[in-house]
Amino acid sequence: MFKSPFINIHSHRKPSLASEICVRNAYLHKPSKILTRYYFSAGLHPWHVAKQDLKTIAHQLEDITMHPFCMAIGEIGLDHYHPNMPAQIDAFTLQVAFAQAKKLPIIIHEVKSMQGLQKILKNFSEPIILHGYTGHIETWEQLNFNNKTYVSFGKQALHGSKKLIDTIQQIPSNRFFIETDQLNIPISHLYQHISDIRAEPMADLQTQLFQNFNEILPATCTPIALE
Ligand SMILES: [Zn+2]
Repeated sequence: MFKSPFINIHSHRKPSLASEICVRNAYLHKPSKILTRYYFSAGLHPWHVAKQDLKTIAHQLEDITMHPFCMAIGEIGLDHYHPNMPAQIDAFTLQVAFAQAKKLPIIIHEVKSMQGLQKILKNFSEPIILHGYTGHIETWEQLNFNNKTYVSFGKQALHGSKKLIDTIQQIPSNRFFIETDQLNIPISHLYQHISDIRAEPMADLQTQLFQNFNEILPATCTPIALE
């Protein structure tokens, strides 16, 4: 019987399991060598906006998104605790417009900037993934205006607040992902934890999240088979 792989929607490392499909993060300001065997997302993180001008960002995006395994633009977004908010807004706006034109999903880093985010995303029609999500279910609902907004749960779920546990229990199964981000643990550990919180068999979770992944995989992206 076919067993669904573990989808890891956002990771800064190589997959650690044979049955894992991960989307690795490629920083736009640091072109990397990870692009040949894994899906990846590429974008200019809000922490790094001082490093590039808009013209350079546009050129780099143009190049990197030609790659057949580039499946999303990200991490991009807004971070209230980092400087340069006007530059963050410019870089984010440009990258959102680019993703819209290329019909690519976006992976979002957001810290205390929900209103700014909503404003810039209001006409975006491709999938949105809110990574490292810890918010209320209502916040997701507000951002789900195009009915293609997903949240992704990571390390915060391991010691989740009551708010986060509620969100994990209430989010529809076709609207979320799981990620390791910077964490060096097997993705299966997080799947186990989240399947316990949702009182749902882990195999069902794998099947559902694999389905979610196939929903958002852009037409321009070449499918990668597991090794
Ligand atoms: Zn990350």
